[in-house]
Formats: sequence, structure tokens, C-alpha cells
Amino acid sequence: MAVAMTETLAHDLVDAGRRLERRGWALGTSGNFSSVVSREPFLLAITASGVDKASLSPEQVVTVGSDAAAVAGSGAPSAETHLHLAVIRVRGAGAVLHTHSVWSTLLSDLHAERGEVVVTDYEMLKGLSGVKSHEHEERVPILDNSQDMPALARRVEATLRSRPKAHAFLLRKHGLYTWGSDLAEAVRHVEILEFLFEVIGRRGRA
Ligand SMILES: [Zn+2]
Repeated sequence: MAVAMTETLAHDLVDAGRRLERRGWALGTSGNFSSVVSREPFLLAITASGVDKASLSPEQVVTVGSDAAAVAGSGAPSAETHLHLAVIRVRGAGAVLHTHSVWSTLLSDLHAERGEVVVTDYEMLKGLSGVKSHEHEERVPILDNSQDMPALARRVEATLRSRPKAHAFLLRKHGLYTWGSDLAEAVRHVEILEFLFEVIGRRGRA
């Protein structure tokens, strides 16, 4: 049962990852994607480290436990598994997606001093879970980048706890993290946020 479920999730993650790569949001080996297999015991399917997202395959998805150690699959889990686990701990998310788009990278740098990107009054905001009106104010926090993943995971956890309404966060000069109750919702959040970031980025330049 668990094996069959993991295989289905691995295929769904591959479809989602390749879809995001085709949009230019996870070029090369950048980005990583995860989906919760089970809560008790906790198991997470996540893309392996260093794999090209254009040719992502189900064999490149590994299963990890709550300590980020691999329990099944070949290849090492992404170094950023700790960040996925932090999001799941705080938000109870069913899937977490991390992309490296041009616009999220640019805005995470341009808005770094104020510590957030504020998005308001756009109709597309209604694509975010629970948002009913364009008048919603989405505040996307920006965290400084780091290669110390356990330390960064602690900062992610603290930031999300202090901002219970945030649907996403940015790592400075790095990229976007967003999530959903399931994979479909997480993909939708990537698409909505990337759309909004591009609008804000292009507007600023116009
Ligand atoms: Zn990354």
C-alpha cells in the first residue's frame, strides 16, 4: 500500500516538476519538490539532489523520514529537505514546491531591505488558498540565503510561526518556497505567485 502510494506520488511529483521546469522556473538542477506520503509514520517523497528537472523521472524521487534521512529510493535527498520539513511542521502542508525563477530571484533582492514583497489589489491573488478578494494583502517574507540548512530551517520555522497567513517565502537571490494542502494546490500557488512576481517586476521597470 505504502509502496504503491509512493509510486503514484513520485509520478505526480515528476509531472509537477517538469511542468514548472518548462515554465523556466526550475532550470538545470535547481528547485526541489516534495509531497507527504503518510503522517503516521511520517514519510515524505522528495526529489533527489542534483537531478536535471527537464528529465526528472520517478526513480529520482526519494522517501525521507522526519529527520530528513532517506528511508527508500536511490540518490541523496535534496539538501533543502530540512526547509520542506520546516514548512510541513508549521503549516501542516501536504506538498512543498521550491523554484528558482528570474522574477522571484530579482524581487527577493530588490525588496530585501524591507524584508518582504507586498502584493495587493490583483485579481490573481484569489488563486491563493482562502483568499476571496483582490483587496487581499499578501506579504511574502524574504529570508537571507544560507548553505547551513538546519540553521536556515529554524529561521523558516520562526518566520512562518510569526506570519501565520503567509502562503510563501523567498530566499534572497535564491528563489521561492510555497506549499499547499496537496500537490495540485501547491502547483497553483507557484503559478499564481510567479505570475504576480512577474507583474510586479515588469511594472517596476516600466
Ligand atoms: Zn534552491
